[in-house]
Amino acid sequence: MVTDLTELGQGLPPRALSMITHIIVHRIEDGEDARAVAQFFKSNPQWTGGGMGYAIVIKRDGTIEQACALNRRAPGARAANGCGIQVACVGDFRKHEPTVSQWGALCDVCEDLATFIGPNAKIMGHTEFPGASADPNKVCPGPLLDMNALRDLVEDTKVYWPKTLARTRCEALGYVFERK
Ligand SMILES: [Zn+2]
Repeated sequence: MVTDLTELGQGLPPRALSMITHIIVHRIEDGEDARAVAQFFKSNPQWTGGGMGYAIVIKRDGTIEQACALNRRAPGARAANGCGIQVACVGDFRKHEPTVSQWGALCDVCEDLATFIGPNAKIMGHTEFPGASADPNKVCPGPLLDMNALRDLVEDTKVYWPKTLARTRCEALGYVFERK
């Protein structure tokens, strides 16, 4: 289930849900949950202008928090802000693996959102996406979060769902698509 903290993303610019084609995976070590991460961005406006950078935050214990509605453009990945759903796992995956609970939750999130996006959904790490970072040396989420394993797993389980049914299913799990 997804915890609704989408009030944290109020004020982020809107986008059409039809623009979404990608799930972009990040690491974040500046805060242990969505509230703390949103506060970090607010206090350090050099990164995003102060706005919450991610739509989804997955805590170390596997808790899934949604920090802005999917019809908002979370500013975590420059060139991939419009087309991507920004999913951040708490931790530094240059140094350690995600926890078992976190990995399981990340697989669930990618499967759920890929079902909504459709059979052509793309799952990419932040710095795998060209132009998604201002820093050419940035490594996100890091080699210890295995993007190929994640893609393989979601690919194996990916099924085609009609758009409205997929959305209804995601909403039943707690995902928020639209918020004014
Ligand atoms: Zn990132």
